[in-house]
Amino acid sequence: MKKDKVIIKTLVDNNRMSTQELLQLITSKIDDGYTDFEIDACGQHNIGGSSWAKNRNEILSFKIKNPGQRVGAMALSGTKIIVEGSAPADVGWLNSGAEIIVKGDCGDTAAHCAAGGKIYVDGRVGTRSGALMKHDPKFENPEFWVLKNTGSFAFEFMGGGIAVVCGYDCGDLNSVLGSRSCVGMVGGTIYVRGPIDNISDCVQVINLDDSDIKFLKEGLNIFLSKIDKIDLFEELAEFTDWKKIIPLPSEIKEKKISVAEFRKNNWVEDGIFGDFVHDDFIVYPMPATSDGRVHIPKWNNENCIDCKLCLNNCPQNAIFQKDKNYISDDNKCIGCGICEAVCPKSCWIMYSNRRELT
Ligand code: SF4
Ligand code: SF4
Repeated sequence: MKKDKVIIKTLVDNNRMSTQELLQLITSKIDDGYTDFEIDACGQHNIGGSSWAKNRNEILSFKIKNPGQRVGAMALSGTKIIVEGSAPADVGWLNSGAEIIVKGDCGDTAAHCAAGGKIYVDGRVGTRSGALMKHDPKFENPEFWVLKNTGSFAFEFMGGGIAVVCGYDCGDLNSVLGSRSCVGMVGGTIYVRGPIDNISDCVQVINLDDSDIKFLKEGLNIFLSKIDKIDLFEELAEFTDWKKIIPLPSEIKEKKISVAEFRKNNWVEDGIFGDFVHDDFIVYPMPATSDGRVHIPKWNNENCIDCKLCLNNCPQNAIFQKDKNYISDDNKCIGCGICEAVCPKSCWIMYSNRRELT
């Protein structure tokens, strides 16, 4: 027998239900067979994620007002979530099959790591949205539809899935994907309408073909219906305004530059910690030897039984014998500590080489 909708008000007489209490309440109701939730939230996190209806054939649905972070995080197929208004960061984080509709803007990292399902946003999304989206070929492509624009660094390291940024109502923005988007993108497809600027050079921006237009036509119809804006279809379906972004083929990406050159010419000025520490632009080899080591071994001969375990196990062949002494060559040693670990007589001791930052 179909059960009634569960209506949860999370703020009663100025008493706010905690995230844990709310999630436990939802779980207990699901265990009792309820599938339909209306939640008047008060910033509680993780609503709508990681649950299946008790009867797996039923749809678990959530209508949510005022959620906290990660609404629909790790949400599973068979889940439908509607957020009435905007939502903060991490909407649909690692979405694993749910349909999530946000009738407003999303904070940063919407659809971050999304691996399945569909996320529809009736507004803008923040920084790093769509980053690390991925696609397991055993399942359908994840989709991420955005009516307006994204913040900067969107679609970083995207590995799969489909994102659509409609660029609607973006005024005089010079880029509907913000700045430095698509850095490290290796898979997936982004369809975008409107200007784009300062995009990573590891992708190519190309014109749509017939199959792209077919996909967008069908998808736009569904997207705009979900967000109750089907009247925008005609304006958005002018496909000469659209471009498609895909990763460059790896053979073209092979252009290699040194780490030092990258830091000087491509990276954010003074590096990401430039506000806090001076960057001397020294590039230590990985792993570091000599003064770049985190730890340095020192040998003492008090108990040495000349077993040569240290000498034979050093991965760098850094240890050599001179007279009766064992010595580590600073130019080869990486400070791994294996000599200390294998010595049966504790002759090697690792010392910290940490120095104060100036
Ligand atoms: S710390 Fe590692 S690299 Fe250095 S001498 Fe010992 S075993 Fe060799
Ligand atoms: S492992 Fe220790 S006891 Fe053996 S040779 Fe090296 S320092 Fe000497």
